[in-house]
Amino acid sequence: TVALKDVMKVFADGTVAVDRVNLDVGQGEFMVLLGPSGCGKSTLLRMVAGLEDPTSGAIMLDGDLANDLPPRERGVAMVFQDFALYPHMTVGENIGFPLRLSGVEPEPRAEQVAEVASALGIGDVLARKPGQLSGGQRQRVAMGRAIVRRPKLFLMDEPLSNLDSGLRAELRAEISGLVRELGVTTIYVTHDQAEALTMADRVAILRKGVLQDVGTPTQVYGRPATLYVAAFLGSPR
Ligand code: ATP
Ligand code: MG
Repeated sequence: TVALKDVMKVFADGTVAVDRVNLDVGQGEFMVLLGPSGCGKSTLLRMVAGLEDPTSGAIMLDGDLANDLPPRERGVAMVFQDFALYPHMTVGENIGFPLRLSGVEPEPRAEQVAEVASALGIGDVLARKPGQLSGGQRQRVAMGRAIVRRPKLFLMDEPLSNLDSGLRAELRAEISGLVRELGVTTIYVTHDQAEALTMADRVAILRKGVLQDVGTPTQVYGRPATLYVAAFLGSPR
């Protein structure tokens, strides 16, 4: 679980990127963080991952204060928009890399890689290099590499934004299916309303660093908390 208490981020130049956000993400929940460009989504996610320190407030992971916990010890995996794969390694080596780092032997490693790859529909391209894959396949490899260590928390920052719309729709269903199957707690960042409303258990809507509304897609779309939320989602009103 994740609990954010009055989390604030003010950058050195005075920019208030995240403004006293309170948000709970339950065990196994798929939370989508939605909002326009520059509203503070990535900054918030980076603070949860430990890549950025909050200026004030508390980040609780599984009930413990995590503010001073280094990223490696948080049990989180993160996938970014530009999903940098290692170009000289095969798909299998890319996915297995985090396991190799943590000293998993070749045989169990190959088994775990094969399992994750087949769940992602890339079991037949394990011997290829990233340069020999389509964009969608590459994104699947990045997802596989992130989840192969079975993180407690899965963070995704606009992972589909570089893909065409057909592929986005396909991967949307695939990602939400996969993370639900694994039961891993997920925070998924996007500025795409359709993506948020179709994938989320709950949606958190951010505007200029301030949380506007949190609820199920039906709640936030049907009963938006503010006019801003209604306008942003294009709700009937
Ligand atoms: P996008 O959808 O475009 O990725 P975002 O919601 O992820 O946007 P953030 O990247 O979190 O937005 O940025 C939030 C605000 O903080 C923006 O105004 C941005 O310019 C500012 N910001 C981000 N990083 C820094 C930094 N290192 N120093 C100063 N300001 C920053
Ligand atoms: Mg961002």
